[in-house]
Amino acid sequence: MRHLPIVISGPSGVGKGTIVKELLKRDPSLVESVSMTTRAPRPGEISGKTYIYVSREEFEARIAADDFLEYDEHFSGLYGTPRSFVEEQLKERSVILEIDVVGGLNARKLLKDTLLIFIDPPSPEELIERLKKRGTESEQALRERLQRVKYEMHMREQYDYTVLNDDLGRAVDEVLAIIEKERNKEGN
Ligand code: 5GP
Repeated sequence: MRHLPIVISGPSGVGKGTIVKELLKRDPSLVESVSMTTRAPRPGEISGKTYIYVSREEFEARIAADDFLEYDEHFSGLYGTPRSFVEEQLKERSVILEIDVVGGLNARKLLKDTLLIFIDPPSPEELIERLKKRGTESEQALRERLQRVKYEMHMREQYDYTVLNDDLGRAVDEVLAIIEKERNKEGN
């Protein structure tokens, strides 16, 4: 079985986080990369688990030290994938990276056999509803996130698979089936 970097992307509010949580529960051989960010924690988020929260100064020092596999700035924060964790884990297992489309496409340039999966919202209206309900964003931040949805939806054409999140259980089944199929392909 191959050990793959598996990127899960999709617009804000599409339910990526919930899907990833379920994937890890249902397939304990998977592990998730915890990203580093300069954005402030949201209520309920756990430092070291949801993200590793650092100052912009520290993040920039880590960029200079080449500590990130990839990083990107969006929604007025820096987000990056710590390199050593992913590289170490890939020797033993497949690693999930819940990152944006720019990060996903950059990761593919650096890591062999990166699998890119995009999570599609059932409809734009539902996505807006979910983001509003989450209530974690200011009006301005909400507008920025909705603006970015268009860009992400366009970039998903470069992804290997698109999975519609119309029903959580069904979407998780579909992602697991894709992972299973790709892990069992012959490596080169
Ligand atoms: P949020 O602020 O909602 O947690 O995340 C905003 C966006 O940043 C999401 O699209 C999320 O997937 C993306 N993101 C999270 N971690 C990383 C990372 O390490 N690298 C990149 N490029 N994007 C990330």
